[in-house]
Amino acid sequence: MSSCGNESCIRPADKKCSICSEVYYCSSECQHANWPQHKVSCKVSVVRLRPSGGAYWDKNIPQVPHRERFVEEKLERTHAIFKKGELCPLTEFYGHPILIYCPLIHSKVTDRPMGDNELAVYLRIEPSDGFAPPKWQVHNPGDCFVVRRDKKPLSKDLVQTMFAYHSDLLDWYFEEQMESGHPPGQGIDAADFKRFYKKYWHLGEDSDAEPV
Ligand SMILES: [Zn+2]
Ligand SMILES: [Zn+2]
Repeated sequence: MSSCGNESCIRPADKKCSICSEVYYCSSECQHANWPQHKVSCKVSVVRLRPSGGAYWDKNIPQVPHRERFVEEKLERTHAIFKKGELCPLTEFYGHPILIYCPLIHSKVTDRPMGDNELAVYLRIEPSDGFAPPKWQVHNPGDCFVVRRDKKPLSKDLVQTMFAYHSDLLDWYFEEQMESGHPPGQGIDAADFKRFYKKYWHLGEDSDAEPV
């Protein structure tokens, strides 16, 4: 067992910092006491969303395999994502609210590489009509980042599932429901997402795996 992250404490520790998972404490009292020191090095886990490579018509730029487009990283707590990141509204419906941030969109760079990042566009869709706001669609956003709103650890598996879920919802919406006027956000809740998660990862119906 690790020793307590509070330097003046010598007790064994088994409670992880819930944000970075890198420091252990014996108690919430010690965690609280150590926070002014720890917050400088406590990093937040984010998932980088990589574009697919070049535009699909440009065969000179190789496509990045889907699975490799989700990359787990750590960012400083002062990173711009925590101030400028936008809520992905659909994710709040099913209980895993994430913020999305695109350095290129926010830097107003106009000379951007070709290709798109449909991962970001799908995650950012509005529940009312299934479209992401124009700024996410008009320009290639390049690499984007997502982070849990509560800053707790975020896995690439969860983000990949979210993308697949949104993609599924949009297929269903545009093929069958648009005429009947049901918005894509209807009928979405934590239970529906959990069902999808299990199906996506081929887990049994009675598996108690929780999306994290
Ligand atoms: Zn302690
Ligand atoms: Zn920490």
